[in-house]
Amino acid sequence: MSHDHSVQLNLPTPARALAIVAHPDDAEFQCGATFAKWAAQGCVINHLVCTDGAKGTWDPHADTRALVATRKVEQRAAADVLGSTGEVVFLGAVDGELEATLARRSEIAYWIRVLRPDVVLGHDPWRRWRLHPDHRAAGFLACDGIVGARDPHFYPEHRLPHHRPSTLLLFETEEPDHFEDVTGYADQKIDALFWSSALSMAYLLVPMFLLISLIIPAQYSVTGSSPKHFFTDAFFNADIKKDKRILHLYASEIINYQVRIDKNLAQTQKRWKRYKKAILFIAGSPVAFAIA
Ligand SMILES: [Zn+2]
Repeated sequence: MSHDHSVQLNLPTPARALAIVAHPDDAEFQCGATFAKWAAQGCVINHLVCTDGAKGTWDPHADTRALVATRKVEQRAAADVLGSTGEVVFLGAVDGELEATLARRSEIAYWIRVLRPDVVLGHDPWRRWRLHPDHRAAGFLACDGIVGARDPHFYPEHRLPHHRPSTLLLFETEEPDHFEDVTGYADQKIDALFWSSALSMAYLLVPMFLLISLIIPAQYSVTGSSPKHFFTDAFFNADIKKDKRILHLYASEIINYQVRIDKNLAQTQKRWKRYKKAILFIAGSPVAFAIA
């Protein structure tokens, strides 16, 4: 939680939003429910995917060239499920080798100037102990790209008017200070994640779906006994325009958030134990049958 204990809830629905992410499916994981909510309220959702996703399989024998094509199809399908009516742009950097170079910064600034988003969403590049280099690089590129798009003397070769987004929301952050209430949109996020790996992970479809169904609700803070009562996506608002409306919450309320998250995790663990028992029972029954 933010040190000054002030947090923000719900931006006004932007007219245009743009997620700048490292890989196909990153946006669905990190802000999928927020996108579904905004799309339902008429926001044009755009995706800018920096790498080709060629490392996105656990199958060591996979044809990675075919995988690149498959992941593009999946990313578009996932965007459709969220209700996106905007662009899905692929920069095509090699998965695992994305770098925050000046050339890439210009590309990102170019697309910000073309798509003219009010809100940009990206990976928090300052998150400590972040392992994946692409997420780090994509985070820096989102921040640097906004500066390049915003100031008129950057990149005259674009031959485009400069554009200043009003808000930058960083996801995967250690210190969230902005929450989007996405109650009612978690299922759409689960569906989008399902389609974002339906082809490339076909051999893992059932366990993947189970995993996603368990992980996603656990990502959210939940109130009360009903697990669908109150869901939020969490961000750090980088506040590039200093015009945010701040909602002050008392420390006790912040502690309540934590309690809700803990409670939800406990519920999820309980649910997982039940699933596990059922899976073990089904898997074990042929063995028991053979022995008998
Ligand atoms: Zn990723």
